[in-house]
Amino acid sequence: MIKMTQKKRTTEEGTKRVAEEGTAMDRRSFLKTLAVGTAGAAGVGMLSACSPNAGDGTNGTNDEIAGGGATTADQRGYYSWLGEPPAIDDSQIASTVEVDVVVMGGGNAGVMCACAAVEEGLTVAVIEAQGKDDIYYYGLHDIANINSQVVLSHGVEEIKKSEFLAEFQKRTLGKTNPRIVKKFIDNSGPMVDWLYERMPQEVKDTLKVYDWADRADYWAVGGVINGFRCWPGYININFQLTAPALIEEAEGKGAAWYWNHTGIVLVTEEGTFTDNQEFTEDGIEVFKDVEMPQTRVLGLVAQDPDGNYIKFLAKKGVALTGGDYGGNPEMYYAIQDEQRWLFEAHGKDTSNMTCSGFGRDGSGIKMGMWAGGSLDPNTRAMVWPQVMFSSDRFATNLLSWAGQPFMIMDHEGKRFCNEVTLGAYALLSQVERRKPGLRYYTVFDSKYAKNFSLNPPEHFAFSFTGPSSGQGGASEEDILAKWLAAGAAGYNASQDTSNNLEGPSGIPEEATPTSGVEATCSWGANSLDELLDYMGMDATTKATALAEIDTWNRYCEQGEDEDFGRDPNFLVSITDPPFYGFFRIDETPELGTVCLNGLNTDDYQRVLDKNYNPIVGLYASGNNSGGRFAIQYTTPMSGLTLGMALTLGRVLGQQIAQGEI
Ligand SMILES: Cc1cc2nc3c(=O)[nH]c(=O)nc-3n(C[C@H](O)[C@H](O)[C@H](O)COP(=O)(O)OP(=O)(O)OC[C@H]3O[C@@H](n4cnc5c(N)ncnc54)[C@H](O)[C@@H]3O)c2cc1C
Repeated sequence: MIKMTQKKRTTEEGTKRVAEEGTAMDRRSFLKTLAVGTAGAAGVGMLSACSPNAGDGTNGTNDEIAGGGATTADQRGYYSWLGEPPAIDDSQIASTVEVDVVVMGGGNAGVMCACAAVEEGLTVAVIEAQGKDDIYYYGLHDIANINSQVVLSHGVEEIKKSEFLAEFQKRTLGKTNPRIVKKFIDNSGPMVDWLYERMPQEVKDTLKVYDWADRADYWAVGGVINGFRCWPGYININFQLTAPALIEEAEGKGAAWYWNHTGIVLVTEEGTFTDNQEFTEDGIEVFKDVEMPQTRVLGLVAQDPDGNYIKFLAKKGVALTGGDYGGNPEMYYAIQDEQRWLFEAHGKDTSNMTCSGFGRDGSGIKMGMWAGGSLDPNTRAMVWPQVMFSSDRFATNLLSWAGQPFMIMDHEGKRFCNEVTLGAYALLSQVERRKPGLRYYTVFDSKYAKNFSLNPPEHFAFSFTGPSSGQGGASEEDILAKWLAAGAAGYNASQDTSNNLEGPSGIPEEATPTSGVEATCSWGANSLDELLDYMGMDATTKATALAEIDTWNRYCEQGEDEDFGRDPNFLVSITDPPFYGFFRIDETPELGTVCLNGLNTDDYQRVLDKNYNPIVGLYASGNNSGGRFAIQYTTPMSGLTLGMALTLGRVLGQQIAQGEI
């Protein structure tokens, strides 16, 4: 048990010490240090902390580097997006509100944090930039949870928690914080049950539990593909309708929502604390008093809809729950470097990269960094892709939501990777690293039901739009029959409204082709020869493709994919007519829906300073925090970003209230 109490702190002493040290430094470092000291001395009077990361405001150019001395990240311009914290003087404050906890961002994590804190008897102010009547809670609300009563009572098999944790860490190459992941695993079941009790009846009536019962073949092989496992058991609910009920209950218990209020900057105080441990050069812990710098967060300044500044003082702490930075092109460009390099490799414009149509502005992360926090190094983590391939001309989203149960060939009619490992993600990585704008052909036969049932419950797991995907609409059989009937003319399932492709879960608007595009890209035929002709292959491509299908069928028969090592359980031959095929085109790398790396936090979601000590009174949860995701979103269950945001937001509210972890 760690007590979340502050160690001995001597603000004035700290300011004096830092200023004295400054005399021995070069001018820039001195000015920076002095500024930190000044902010500390001003304490609550001057409402911004100076940023240890923000550099000196030059935005760092190469001239700066040439200026000599050690080069830091801010000098190289990586942090030009961070800028300086706004300086707001006490005289500009229109009013002050004092509560126990300030929640900065009333989204998924924020709502749950506030509800948990008031349940524990605290007063809470939730600062939310959106309006009460038009707030959009991000998410289709597939929510991962482990062993809630809701899913167990639905017949979902109990998950062995240690196995889930090991799988999660394996998929993230050990880059995530296993204690945080374990907190999700241990608390997500109770979170969902708590949520269920409070859902309006209409939400309960439409709640879905994904048991993946129709993936019998997948479970028959142990639910594992090439050594990677994933589980069903996530739920889907309408959170838009659920949140108001939660808020009403919380407001009845001592919370207040400040709608249309924008969090601007944290109120901080600099000082020192006496740590009682140090490490020798040999790494041995010795116990003696050591003075360490310490930032304490006292509250937050927010702006109301009329532009007035309000100071919210927090007796117990500020929770940063402002979501991701996917809507901020500067941050996206600087931090999501994998997508940036991909865009550059494809010769695409990088000046306005953001999560397509979504993404918050990263202000919560900036506030934490201005107060001395740093970014979790898993910079590439994001929910990606929003659709499988991206094309303006073709209905490339068609049948392409994910884990690929089929064999796929490139524009030359050759296979190019193991299509099934890690669901959609490894496949998309391969595609995005190849020449853009070319066709990818998928061919399968009448045994398609076998392909489907082998498909794991990965994100966007492959389905047509049938009941198994929870989206309603036409069944696989219906759509395939239309493909076959369309033959040479091809069939455009995306534009056939009778299929109800835009079912309740919704397909993002940008995934559907605009009118007038060459959207037809799927065919059916009674022979492969005929099918490949329909698909527009020239003689050379067709000959290569037919040879490749022969090789594929041989691999299926022998139970070994000699080319790419596809899991032997997932080799389904293409031999039995009728045959079906479609092609897709990827023109632009995906930008994702939300970014998933935030501030460096510890096991208790406390934001850490550069000495790995917690910044007193500052917490981050949801997409304002790091440590939860890495290496893209290849997780062992769907709905994990919401599962984590809702669960860890709730855990944080409880922790702050209890004061002990
Ligand atoms: C279309 C879409 C579908 C998705 N579907 C799923 C899904 O089915 N399952 C899943 O697991 N994940 C899904 N995700 C991802 C998931 O929604 C996010 O990861 C999740 O919402 C993160 O929760 P959060 O609380 O951290 O941030 P958010 O939910 O983004 O909440 C942040 C809140 O902070 C507010 N805010 C930000 N800055 C300020 C400020 N300065 N002052 C005041 N308020 C501020 C914002 O207005 C917002 O309300 C989806 C995302 C999108 C965009």
